[in-house]
Amino acid sequence: MKNRGYYGNYGGAFLPEILVATFDELEDAFENAKSDPSFWRTYETLMASYSCRPTPLTFAENLTRKFGGAKIYIKREDLNHTGAHKANNVMGQGLLVKKMGKKRVIAETGAGQHGVATATMAAKFGFECTIYMGEVDVMRQRPNVFWMEQLGATVVPVTDGTRILKDAINEAFRDWVTNMDTTHYVLGTACGPHPFPEMVSWFQSIIGKEARKQILEIEGKLPSRVYACVGGGSNAMGLFSGFRDDPVELVGVEAGGHGVNSGMHASRLCSKDASPGIAQGYKTYFLQDGDGQMKETHSISAGLDYVGVSPILSDMHEKGLARFESATDDEVVDALRLTMTHEGIIPALESAHAFAGAFREVSSLSKDDIIIINQSGRGDKDIFTVADAFDDPKWKQFIIGKAKSYNG
Ligand SMILES: *Cc1c(COP(=O)(O)O)cnc(C)c1O
Repeated sequence: MKNRGYYGNYGGAFLPEILVATFDELEDAFENAKSDPSFWRTYETLMASYSCRPTPLTFAENLTRKFGGAKIYIKREDLNHTGAHKANNVMGQGLLVKKMGKKRVIAETGAGQHGVATATMAAKFGFECTIYMGEVDVMRQRPNVFWMEQLGATVVPVTDGTRILKDAINEAFRDWVTNMDTTHYVLGTACGPHPFPEMVSWFQSIIGKEARKQILEIEGKLPSRVYACVGGGSNAMGLFSGFRDDPVELVGVEAGGHGVNSGMHASRLCSKDASPGIAQGYKTYFLQDGDGQMKETHSISAGLDYVGVSPILSDMHEKGLARFESATDDEVVDALRLTMTHEGIIPALESAHAFAGAFREVSSLSKDDIIIINQSGRGDKDIFTVADAFDDPKWKQFIIGKAKSYNG
């Protein structure tokens, strides 16, 4: 019997019998890849030529001066191909799919970023690609749906349930059960049944490996704290894994929405609205009521809007190995504005949670301290949300004008 991926009390693989053999196959492919140094070298070479790796570690000189505390460095995952750390995971899984000899990939997507990344990977590797997306999200995220289709993927709107991410995940599993001989399911974050949490974290660990090496080269010492936003937890696991054995405080920042006591947020590890449970094939903290009914989530950033969280982070939370905070929508918009105007860098709204969490604390650290903030993605994609949040009148005019031009 294989170790089914438990991290303390969390994780596991709660699978329908029919999928067990497929998960065994995946686990074997993953274990082989892990024990074969040439696999990681191939992965690094691919990411260097296709996704600008290693991504830079940028000294945020102006923000450092403004806050007058620790030196602030930014790990630039926004400079990946397709604009976020998601490339690390999909390209890694793409290499595994090739090894397993499969020709078709499927994926779930909520905001659409993972769908675009998967469609990109499929085009590059020559795989057939189907993306499952809740019908509500298909309507809300048209620009990403457009790109997925242009990249050659089939986007299937899911009309079950509340027609959002969790329904898309269920539908993707249904497809997999029917087509497992030819198909691999490219899960988008460090969640789901074993081996996904560990496998996705392993591919994302390229972030932390690079960041640790870079900061030692630049500063000759380790940071005091590192910050990452937490949706499913993959970019956080990626950064944290570089510093897990070091005396470095790991800080994860969740979506605080309108506040953790408002009922309108997506904070699982630092609110009272989540509790351990089993759903979607694994055990972790879920935002759920006493009957195990999943709650509605809210966040200004679509990418942090998920009811579950990586079981590895749930375990680290319980053992005090990482600290979890939340940032509200308003704090996030302020942090975004500050980073744009001081550094000329536009973080994704998701990433801006990590910035907001760091800005709150950085002044209380000394000038001898260093912090690293993971910029998981670039903010260009958020123009619709950000322009609304800034209440920009010229943007409104532009949108109305566009709409009029279609109505004749
Ligand atoms: C998807 C996404 C996230 C959230 O996913 P994690 O698995 O928690 O990393 C964060 N930032 C960006 C830019 C994303 O696209």
